[in-house]
Amino acid sequence: MAKKIAFFGLGNMGGPMAANLVKAGFEVCAFDLQAASVQKAVDDGCSAAASEKEAVAGADFVISMLPNGAIAESLYIDGAGLLDLVEPSALLIDCSTVAASSSRRIGEEAKKRNIRAIDAPVSGGVGGAQAGTLAFMCGGEGADVDAAREVLVHIGANIFHAGASGAGQIAKICNNMLLAVHMIGTAESLQLGVDNGLDPAVLSEIMLKSSGCNWSLEKYNPYPGVMDGVPASRGYEGGFMVKLMQKDLGLAMEAALASKSSTPMGALANSLYGLHENAGGDKQADLDFSSIQQMFGQPED
Ligand code: NAD
Repeated sequence: MAKKIAFFGLGNMGGPMAANLVKAGFEVCAFDLQAASVQKAVDDGCSAAASEKEAVAGADFVISMLPNGAIAESLYIDGAGLLDLVEPSALLIDCSTVAASSSRRIGEEAKKRNIRAIDAPVSGGVGGAQAGTLAFMCGGEGADVDAAREVLVHIGANIFHAGASGAGQIAKICNNMLLAVHMIGTAESLQLGVDNGLDPAVLSEIMLKSSGCNWSLEKYNPYPGVMDGVPASRGYEGGFMVKLMQKDLGLAMEAALASKSSTPMGALANSLYGLHENAGGDKQADLDFSSIQQMFGQPED
């Protein structure tokens, strides 16, 4: 008999993840506060639950992909109280990007009830969710992470065990803080070259074969017209939104404060993305994060 998954949060990421789990043969029961998200999930082969309690009844796995930690803590503990509703044998996998402290709290509360729970935030964006090639950064007991692989292999290409509860979240914010830093460095370098008469495509080619080579330059060039198929070449539409990068940098700054870590480059990146996000209202916040290039100049400048 097919194993049952209760899936909470069928948005941009959760929707395609749930659809891929249906394709992999799981019975997926969807719960979301937005009727349109639930309808899309039903169209993709999920069943719909009328309540959180109904969703987790008989579920072997519970997966959540929610906007933030307050919502995740509310779903599992303070609000709907899933930890008191799930089957004792269920394995809980929270894939939302939240503060490590939220994941640890959920992990501790689950442990008190003898329920298995891990944090498993992802990298790879909507494209990775659709293609089933996400990277999962898991925090929790090794045995629980191994048990989660039964599900995660169908929606991810790489599954890492980062450490104890909350460690998945720390791995995720370290990665994204570094991503923000090298994206900004790449954007300002390209503009410096352009301002001094260089063709950004030629400069990119040179730096790709030199010591400035990095992922942003190689896979995600922020300068319009240099690379096909990236957000910079379609008006920065689609991709990883500025507001999500800003959220992750905020979580990185919170973690740095808690651990008294020095993160000067991350702090500057956080400020710059904050300025960039606020520069153009909602539309700006929804652009891809490589649009930080605009802060340094425009091609027609
Ligand atoms: P989204 O806003 O598209 O989806 C979130 C969904 O959760 C919505 O459908 C919303 O209605 C639902 N929801 C809210 N509260 C709920 C509740 N109490 N019960 C059930 N459903 C509830 O967001 P998204 O882009 O899918 O992002 C989800 C998570 O994934 C976030 O934590 C985000 O940081 C992370 N993430 C997103 C991306 C990306 O590129 N979008 C990449 C990596 C990680």
